[in-house]
Amino acid sequence: MARNAVQFQKGLSEAEFQRLYGTEELCRAVVFKLRWPDGFVCPGCGGRAHCIIRTRLVHQCNTCKLQTSLTAGTIFAATKLELKVWFQAMYHMTQSKQGISSVELGRRLGVRQRIAWAMKSKLAQVMMERDDGDDKRLGGRIEMDDAYLGGKRSGGKRGRGAPAKTPFVAAVETTGDGKPRRVKLRRVKRFTKKAVKALAEKTLLPSARVYTDGLTCFTGIAAAGATHVPFIIGPFLKSQKVPRFKWVNTLLGNIKSAITGTYRAVRSHAGRTLAEFEYRFNRRFDLAAMIPRLAYAAVRTSPMPYRLLILTE
Ligand SMILES: [Zn+2]
Repeated sequence: MARNAVQFQKGLSEAEFQRLYGTEELCRAVVFKLRWPDGFVCPGCGGRAHCIIRTRLVHQCNTCKLQTSLTAGTIFAATKLELKVWFQAMYHMTQSKQGISSVELGRRLGVRQRIAWAMKSKLAQVMMERDDGDDKRLGGRIEMDDAYLGGKRSGGKRGRGAPAKTPFVAAVETTGDGKPRRVKLRRVKRFTKKAVKALAEKTLLPSARVYTDGLTCFTGIAAAGATHVPFIIGPFLKSQKVPRFKWVNTLLGNIKSAITGTYRAVRSHAGRTLAEFEYRFNRRFDLAAMIPRLAYAAVRTSPMPYRLLILTE
């Protein structure tokens, strides 16, 4: 990205992170407050009176005797790791623009790579489910382009039609004077009108005015009820050079360099990889708030056992 306020923004310093989330007690208190803002509520009977069984760190309902752990029913369910390790993972995943590989995450947290991969995947799942809401659809001026994860970005046909790559559509909502505001990165089966129409219905408001190149699939935008402004690029001009596609091109360049640098074998879990980028980008103006917001979403995301996590999308 070009120089802008985001690059000079202070993230959450490690010292501040330690002060807020540095011990298991602090992290448990944060999760408790996010899960039960008005005090404990038994998920079995709705009762509030309870006692805490210290040895197992569970809340036992006085009425129905159901025992509930702090993490039951959340993305942290059945974890053998301390919550403070999860908070450290959230820190590393949210505070750098490029994200972090599971190898590097494992090294920083002192856990095996397979464990780090599972944590990262679960937190990316939280990000993915979070950004799917209807209230987060894009409107106004939008730049849209097609791309492949793992594909070539410059030269030749930039991988259009190349096999074994994950096709996705990038949409950047900009301000009237062309500054990027929010993005959507969504995978599609193929670049067809039908796929783009479905994607546009899910991610765009009727007020959207979408600039694309001349690829046929983008006629799906108008079919979904938004305004489509195609720009037919001649054979001697690359879309990278066209000002109206400035931000979508910058974004795709950033994704490509981050994936080359830190991510491997993203093909089977492309949706989560894209969700991580989207989540971080859309919240880049408030890095410090990303940790409590992600934790809030995490306690509201259903458990995801390892056997589901490794399924390819
Ligand atoms: Zn109960």
